[in-house]
Amino acid sequence: MSWLDEFSHRLNELEAQHLLRQRRVVTPLPGALMRVDGQAMLAFCSNDYLGLAADASLAEAVQQALPHYGVGSGASPMVSGHTAANAALEEELADFVQLPRALYFYAGFATNVGVIPALVGLGDEIFADRLNHASLIDGSLLSRARMQRYRHADLDHLTQMLQASEAKRKLIISDAVFSMDGDVADIPGLLALAEEHDALLLLDDAHGLGVMGPQGRGALAAAGLTGANASRRILYMSTLSKAVGVAGGFVAGDATLVEWVLQKARSYTFATAAPALLAEAIRPALRRIAQGDALRDQLHARILQLRRGLTPAADSPMASLGWSLMPSDTAIQPLVVGQNAVALALTDALRQRGLWVPAIRPPTVPVGTARLRIALSAAHTEADVDRLLEALHALAAEQFQAVLRAD
Ligand code: PMP
Repeated sequence: MSWLDEFSHRLNELEAQHLLRQRRVVTPLPGALMRVDGQAMLAFCSNDYLGLAADASLAEAVQQALPHYGVGSGASPMVSGHTAANAALEEELADFVQLPRALYFYAGFATNVGVIPALVGLGDEIFADRLNHASLIDGSLLSRARMQRYRHADLDHLTQMLQASEAKRKLIISDAVFSMDGDVADIPGLLALAEEHDALLLLDDAHGLGVMGPQGRGALAAAGLTGANASRRILYMSTLSKAVGVAGGFVAGDATLVEWVLQKARSYTFATAAPALLAEAIRPALRRIAQGDALRDQLHARILQLRRGLTPAADSPMASLGWSLMPSDTAIQPLVVGQNAVALALTDALRQRGLWVPAIRPPTVPVGTARLRIALSAAHTEADVDRLLEALHALAAEQFQAVLRAD
């Protein structure tokens, strides 16, 4: 089996390049704690930005729904129908994001992989931000439309591409909040270009829903483009696995567009429906989010605290090593350290101190920009963030000493 030999050889190569990924066995504990491989750790790796995954009201809703729905959902919604729970959730999702209609998928990844090929195909063109999430890239490739990638957040570059395009249908695709950098897309700027060039705009708000906008209604609401100001050119999607604290994805927008996606998205039609139990957990989560200003305030206080603590004086070890935060004011706070080996060594050293912060390496991020992706949550206390700050400053000082010695 030469294939197996080749894969085995390539696995060894990945290991040598510090690119072999490892899963840990984890169990959630109260607050932001997690048991990782048997050891209790303070986690800065979860996208559960409001701490809702552990909310008692969600577990209670699931317990109440269990006798009615059982666990599995049996078949595709097109074959076995969709449950009253899933139908109610779609209404509530549309209401929540203040758009005319929503369609609920079993995962965010499946949403993107289904929606994009439903919208465009051979002969059409996609204009994608270079830092878009993998699910947007895969959905684009699957569609067989021509994909062009513009430089991250560079609307001039996007304009040039749109001007040069002769495609009949044009689709602009962008993360609303970029998952590895934490910055926010210029949504009004993207919409203006979509209007000027008769394009559609697909926005992925996986990291904005629940944390951005009034009552956590997401990045589109924050941009003032929902409700009476909603644009028929925008198709909005998000996941239900991050701030919402459960699992699943949805797309929302103009009712005709959503009906088209329902008819054509293969990851909807040919996949088993999301279990009703999950819909019944998501429904109270949306209500908790709408009433969750205190949680969002808590999260923002932690973001400010971390940024203050990691903006070092010019002569500090951290600055000398070139470690720097990216310009993000969201819950995603990447500390860029450069080399893969440094990011991994930091993650290891933090783990030894009982802190769990993931190292993110290429191909998830560009070569030479390996980073710690620090994800903050309303479940973190001030003392939790202080612990992380102290550990990072101590490690920077140690590394700095090692660099000085090596010189
Ligand atoms: N889009 C973005 C921007 C994401 O970060 C993710 C999750 N990593 C997804 C889509 C996929 O969502 P899900 O995890 O629900 O499949």
